[in-house]
Amino acid sequence: MRVLIIGGGFGGLFCARRLGGVDVAVTVLDRTAGHLFQPLLYQCATGTLSIGQISRPLREEFERHRNVTTLLGEAVDIDPQARRVTARRPDETTFTIDYDVLVVAAGMRQSYFGNEQFAHWAPGMKTLDDALHIRQRVFTAFEMAETLPPGPERDGWLTFAVAGGGPTGVELAGQIREMATRTLANEFHSIEPEEARVLLFDGGQRVLKAFAPELGEKATRSLQKLGVELHMGVHVTHVDRDGVTISPKAGGSDEHYPARTVLWTAGVEAVPFARHLAQVLGAESDRSGRIAVGPDLSVEGYPEIFVIGDLAGRENLPGVAENAMQGGLHVASCIRRELAGKPRRPFRYRDLGSAAYIARGQALLQVGPVKVAGVLGWLAWGLLHIAFLTGVRNRFSTVGTWLSTIARASRSHRAFMLGATDLPDQHYTWTVWDSPTPPPPDAPAEPS
Ligand SMILES: Cc1cc2nc3c(=O)[nH]c(=O)nc-3n(C[C@H](O)[C@H](O)[C@H](O)COP(=O)(O)OP(=O)(O)OC[C@H]3O[C@@H](n4cnc5c(N)ncnc54)[C@H](O)[C@@H]3O)c2cc1C
Repeated sequence: MRVLIIGGGFGGLFCARRLGGVDVAVTVLDRTAGHLFQPLLYQCATGTLSIGQISRPLREEFERHRNVTTLLGEAVDIDPQARRVTARRPDETTFTIDYDVLVVAAGMRQSYFGNEQFAHWAPGMKTLDDALHIRQRVFTAFEMAETLPPGPERDGWLTFAVAGGGPTGVELAGQIREMATRTLANEFHSIEPEEARVLLFDGGQRVLKAFAPELGEKATRSLQKLGVELHMGVHVTHVDRDGVTISPKAGGSDEHYPARTVLWTAGVEAVPFARHLAQVLGAESDRSGRIAVGPDLSVEGYPEIFVIGDLAGRENLPGVAENAMQGGLHVASCIRRELAGKPRRPFRYRDLGSAAYIARGQALLQVGPVKVAGVLGWLAWGLLHIAFLTGVRNRFSTVGTWLSTIARASRSHRAFMLGATDLPDQHYTWTVWDSPTPPPPDAPAEPS
């Protein structure tokens, strides 16, 4: 039996691991050829962890499973009758892979709610590229400010706007303030990094809506103590090179906030292949593109096609790593049971709780009726993340880096790239994202 898994994130990884050594030929197809630990992306973006510490090559992961092959490629098309997927290589050529069972675990991407042009100034937070881009922008903002005289231009570079008050927005906002007040506090001569303003915008009445109200209140107080300025009950209606415009949900006039760094964590939507798949299969999907699945996580009319993780559209399945991991294990179990001539079982998601990091010594943990905040929450958060980080080497090195960051307030992974090596004199191409007008869709970015 040939099993094709699209996506080597949490769902794909756990499914393939459980099929290792089983009498099936497994192919894991991923557009990055690596597994990314998304929950720690913001620590990579803000210079605490390296990209190597939060990701692992899939090839290394499956080195010892002779029946698991990994391939670099982006799924772009499917012929469900022929049971064949077409994948694109990075050089735009294509190849096909035949399957008997297909597991779609391709996850979500950042959504700008139809305002794709915002992405030009406001990077999202879903991929390693995003994290490195944010790192470049956050650290260069302080450098830019250092070279400017006091005044509105310098203030703009020292203002950071974050759209979205979910865990990722809260983590990013908290980290930027913590970095400004601890790591960078004594390194500059002209500016005072502590004066950096961090503005957090969200449409709800409080941050971290998925957590119990009392934990949300604690997070609010911790963020305010850190110096993050919270703007709740507002929609970000415009983003450009100079900042954001917001519109209060309750009515009233729009407000503009000058900020040369805008980060977007406000929403997610299905990756383009998932939308295409739903169309080809005639499957139902919700507004964000999650594909409707039956009790066993397969698509109606296609028992050989499973959709798991963030993309699985079924009541009460949250977009968290635990759902993807359990979905991966469930599908592997369905395949193993079928090989043994046994019927599939329905998928039952077990909610093992959620955690969110706010700042040093401050995190939230919610497991059923148990709610923990402060230092205890922080220790539990750390243990949980280390337990699920891929690769023993990554676990040890991350713990080591965290201990040194706690002790010395330093961040060892602040290096950023200029962005281009296609010209011998290496232009300062990071100004591409600073151009006043975004390039038209699909136009290559211009070297400065
Ligand atoms: C910044 C951030 C922080 C988070 N923090 C937490 C947290 O603290 N706790 C928690 O439980 N959850 C957290 N999440 C959510 C969690 O990471 C997701 O729920 C989980 O990753 C979903 O797993 P998945 O397997 O469905 O998709 P993903 O893990 O997103 O994996 C999808 C994979 O598919 C690949 N892919 C996409 N399209 C294609 C294609 N067409 N062809 C081939 N490959 C493709 C991608 O490269 C990727 O490797 C966070 C997410 C983000 C972005």
